[in-house]
Amino acid sequence: MSRLYLDANATEPMRPEAVSAMAEALALPGNPSSVHAEGRAARRVLEEAREVIATRFGARGRDLVFTSGGTEANALAIRGLAAGRRVLLGATEHPAVLAAAGPDADVIPVLGDGTLDLAALEAALVSGGPALVAVMAANNETGVLHPVESISETCRRHGALLHVDAVQMPGRLPFTLGAADSMALSAHKMGGPKGVGALLLRPGLDPAPLLTGGGQESGRRGGTEALPAIAGFAAAAACPLPEGLAAMRDAIEIGVKALAPEVIIAGSGAPRLPNTTSLILPGVAAETQVIALDLGGVAVSAGAACSSGKVRQSHVLAAMGYGAEAACAIRVSLPWNAPEDTPARFLAAWEVMRGRLIAHRR
Ligand code: PLP
Repeated sequence: MSRLYLDANATEPMRPEAVSAMAEALALPGNPSSVHAEGRAARRVLEEAREVIATRFGARGRDLVFTSGGTEANALAIRGLAAGRRVLLGATEHPAVLAAAGPDADVIPVLGDGTLDLAALEAALVSGGPALVAVMAANNETGVLHPVESISETCRRHGALLHVDAVQMPGRLPFTLGAADSMALSAHKMGGPKGVGALLLRPGLDPAPLLTGGGQESGRRGGTEALPAIAGFAAAAACPLPEGLAAMRDAIEIGVKALAPEVIIAGSGAPRLPNTTSLILPGVAAETQVIALDLGGVAVSAGAACSSGKVRQSHVLAAMGYGAEAACAIRVSLPWNAPEDTPARFLAAWEVMRGRLIAHRR
């Protein structure tokens, strides 16, 4: 029996279109900054990719800065735009945003369903000086969507800049820069390669660079651009959105609740990504569930796996008001190519896993 990969929010399987585009770009010998014909050929691929990605996400090519991924794009926006501003961020942000904002940032709470507390944002913006607000469009652990349009309207009324970490949106739901000032993207969350991303900027906005050097990316990010990865990024960005993920996700949730009514689905009352569910099985540690499912052929993740592979209690679920349950959540995130029998196969493996772990506890 083949394995079932349900950890798309960690990384999506590569789109074949992205693999082909990368192979073609790997064959180009030139550096996009060189003036000779080989350099100009590489530059053409770079600029075409820039236009495809910028257009797809509602920005102009000249306002897109290629980066090494979502982490760097968030850091460039937050560190590069924060001068003279206090930073406000949501309580459920990704560690990349929390780290870039630093310990002095003001944390805006979320409601029990995981969405940003708009009244708290309003109150924080009324007091204090100029602000930069950083929020995610979709949460990586629960899939919960923040009300970005309302957040952006609130920021505009108070003259605050808004940076959106949109890393988990593309490839799942339509999303553009809209009225935000900047937006972070990561190729590997939409079927492109790992290690490349972009920051999209509102026209006229110029963040201070994190990396200086050869003047690449109009001086906004030094270093030779990762051309093959960027070509793969553009090919993935151009792919149509997958269909049928929400129906599979719903079937998984209904099936799990039928097997075990005590299961809690975090954020189920809020608008969510169609591919994500956060399943809390009270009393069973997340890592135990992940290992048991892995042995059963299914790859999922714990609410928050840090890079060392150890599992911490999820700060996302804690911010939503969960106590001990915050250590008992697994994240199931369906990839763009999830097979149709995913719900049936997942539920079969989940039932075996639960049966073994509950028997083990007795
Ligand atoms: N922001 C969110 C919401 C994410 O889920 C991730 C990756 O997990 C990142 C940022 C970081 O992106 P990258 O892995 O490209 O550095």
